[in-house]
Amino acid sequence: MERPLDRGSGPGADDPAFPARHAPRCTRLDELDELVARCRACPRLVAWREEVARVRRASFQDWEYWGRPVPGFGPADASLAVVGLAPAAHGANRTGRMFTGDATGDFLFAALHEIGLASQPTSRHTGDGLALRGVRLTAPVHCAPPENRPTADELRACRPWLSAELGLLAPRLRAVVALGGFGWRALLAAIRETGRPLPRPRPVFGHGVHVVLPAVDGLAHPLHLLGSYHPSQRNTFTGRLTFPMLVGVLRRAAELADLPDVR
Ligand code: SF4
Repeated sequence: MERPLDRGSGPGADDPAFPARHAPRCTRLDELDELVARCRACPRLVAWREEVARVRRASFQDWEYWGRPVPGFGPADASLAVVGLAPAAHGANRTGRMFTGDATGDFLFAALHEIGLASQPTSRHTGDGLALRGVRLTAPVHCAPPENRPTADELRACRPWLSAELGLLAPRLRAVVALGGFGWRALLAAIRETGRPLPRPRPVFGHGVHVVLPAVDGLAHPLHLLGSYHPSQRNTFTGRLTFPMLVGVLRRAAELADLPDVR
């Protein structure tokens, strides 16, 4: 069977053009996920994610860190997507599953469980039995960045993965929640690359903001974009984002995504 990287000659995984070359050719989400996990296009992020995985935090010395790009998590037929920022160094970069293994993920998965989209309220590791229903979690940058801050070039390099992911989800996708202003802007840029027109001026991020992108040729349904403050500890500890606030946005998005049995 042909493997994705066998298609003709092309840049290796450490070439900056690797995502742009391979992401648009993917025809399945599992194929995309496999390619994402091999990517080495950003030298600074590759060095950082691997250094963190080698040194490890004292409390995780017995872990074998993932230390690679973290693919999206959730079913291929999801009608709702949640777009964050990037994996956390000792969270998803350790566990290998999006949003898994840190306080941000604890907050998010508890909210998803609250409305019936996660089978359990916690996400500890890839073997913990967690399953999502109708929702896919992903990020505009798939590698943990130093200080949670990817550069503009890294963001641009990684964008083809998110654009391709949104494109593969598109036939069923009805709503996307962006967590934080960074995720919002990255989401808009990725949507633009899928060919779907965006309003002008560009919609501005805010908690609870809701924008409807009209149906386009080939996709006979609108796409709802919603914003939520990011469930970072800085936001949740200060009360800027409370649990009911996040649940409220996710529940609204799930209803717009026609997900049945949302609580
Ligand atoms: S951030 Fe994205 S483009 Fe850069 S190495 Fe990681 S997966 Fe590849």
